[in-house]
Amino acid sequence: MEKRYQSAYGMRTAPRRRVRIYATDPMSGRRSPYRITIDIDNEPDLQEGPRGSIVEVWDRDGAQECYYAPVNLNHEALLMEAGLAPSESDPRFHQQMVYAVAMKVVESARRALGRPIDFYRSKARPCLKLIPHAFYGPNAFFDKSLNAILFGYFQASRETPGPNLPGQIVFTCLSHDVIAHEMTHAIVNRLRPYFLEPTNVDVLAFHEAFSDIVALFQRFTYHDLLVEYVQSSGARLEDASGLVGLAQQVGYATGGGKALRSAIGTKDDPKAIHQVFEPHHRGAILVSAVFDGYFRTYENRISDLLRIATGGSGILPQGRLHPDLTNRLAREAAYVADRVLRMCFRAFDYLPPVDVTFGDFLRALVTSDYELDPEDRDELRYNMIEGFRKRGIYSSTVTSLAEESLLWPSAIDQPLPPLDNGLRTKARSYLAYSAAALDITGRTRDRRRERQAGSRSALETYRQISIEGGDEKEIPDVQDERDLQSNVFGGLQVYGQNNAIALGLDPNLSVAVSSFHAVQRLGSDQRLIVEFVAQFTQKNDAKAQDYGGLPLRAGTTVVFGVDGAPRYVIAKPMPSAALADNVKKAADHRAARISEFIEAMDLHDPLLAWGDDNFDQRMQRRCTVRHLHEGTL
Ligand SMILES: [Zn+2]
Repeated sequence: MEKRYQSAYGMRTAPRRRVRIYATDPMSGRRSPYRITIDIDNEPDLQEGPRGSIVEVWDRDGAQECYYAPVNLNHEALLMEAGLAPSESDPRFHQQMVYAVAMKVVESARRALGRPIDFYRSKARPCLKLIPHAFYGPNAFFDKSLNAILFGYFQASRETPGPNLPGQIVFTCLSHDVIAHEMTHAIVNRLRPYFLEPTNVDVLAFHEAFSDIVALFQRFTYHDLLVEYVQSSGARLEDASGLVGLAQQVGYATGGGKALRSAIGTKDDPKAIHQVFEPHHRGAILVSAVFDGYFRTYENRISDLLRIATGGSGILPQGRLHPDLTNRLAREAAYVADRVLRMCFRAFDYLPPVDVTFGDFLRALVTSDYELDPEDRDELRYNMIEGFRKRGIYSSTVTSLAEESLLWPSAIDQPLPPLDNGLRTKARSYLAYSAAALDITGRTRDRRRERQAGSRSALETYRQISIEGGDEKEIPDVQDERDLQSNVFGGLQVYGQNNAIALGLDPNLSVAVSSFHAVQRLGSDQRLIVEFVAQFTQKNDAKAQDYGGLPLRAGTTVVFGVDGAPRYVIAKPMPSAALADNVKKAADHRAARISEFIEAMDLHDPLLAWGDDNFDQRMQRRCTVRHLHEGTL
């Protein structure tokens, strides 16, 4: 009896918050399966806006020059009713939707990476800002200098509006895919800030492709929506145009007559990779390769269900499917989608810090997934490699597409020594902070306690000692944990400098540690896998003239095992006479390719004629999502 009275629900914080959104956009959202309720991490201290600890919505209308009243998701009625009902006319619903979808994307990244995703830069610029009505125009973009995502709104085409009303107002901030796409640009930029520097034809295309992959797969996590697509496509998800089409309303409203892009946009044509260079179109090749791997794996996994349901033939009859079957198929589709989404995010820890190529992404996918699931029981890895192969995406550094040769090497020429004892101990204590910062309700408890006692929470500590995606100069200010930070980063910096040659870097230039992470994940056999991932970078400013204002960058990602021994070394070497012959050759070749690529970009840049004043800085201008999105999202 007494137990019952002790039930402390009044003190407890709910771990999840329920919020209503359009599953795709208001155009399809006229029908009920497209208005859904999702659950996101609950931030109990969420302010009006909504303004939380990861993202903040600021609703200033840049075209009307006014502010809209902010929504308060902690209002009693909204807590009970899962937020405001979907509405095109209520700006407060727009704020709610932008916040909810952004948080959902952050959550996917966090779960896959096994560490918090945070946009914290400094006390003055703490969070990523989302501005749902920032400007008038059919576009949206992430702006790294403002640390904000700006969404535009516009009038639908009067001549060819598709299912929209001619001339109706279309809000990009109500498109699930646009929000998820931009949010992913922000996350990619946080994880790899130099991936906005176009140093080869794949770099910007990778940014776009990855953002599309996340936006599309995010939808596969909404069960009711998936059930609808399984039913309408007769279990052939590839044919569900609504599911594989990205940003339908925006695509139609801009007069395109179809979704903006599609997951199966390019036929498996191995020549396209040598002919298509515009980042969005080139990115579409990568997107379709990943989806190819997805669809084949999904088909494998449902083949037994189809045989059971059809008395062995596997061929479904005409008409509606049994609801039980639809449900089971949707679960399989969601399971595989979750696997792919995690696989793609996880690959980030295995990507080089600079100058990424599609082939690097394939190798990173294979290596990271191999670590977690060596057996590949679902054949997902195999199907993925096949999807890439059919589209002619190879890595120039491997000689075969066999899994073993796609795994990254553990040394590029001479072996790297393991981390010393002291550094390993510090790295492990960092692991504890990273785990504590993952616990969201714990964070809130911490924050409340911290406000009372004036002490520091685990999240604060994590922020103070993590450097992720920052420029070398932007190391956050540290007071209490100066010790741990200077020990980990200082120690790693010395390690990097002492081993510059084994890292493929120039020993005469300084080596920076641009990020360090302690990662813990569960493998397929419930093994706990702990890894320390460090990115060493280097730049040569003397060459900026030759590279349109960008320094020549090199960098190496090293994945250390829990024993401190290097397991994988992923290098983009810096030209230097000190390097071994074969590494030096690779470094020189890379530098030459960057110059060639910049020349090719100049040839195709229509703005170049007006750019005389800052010709030397022209590559800087090209390093923004705003520039990347000129013309299309
Ligand atoms: Zn984009």
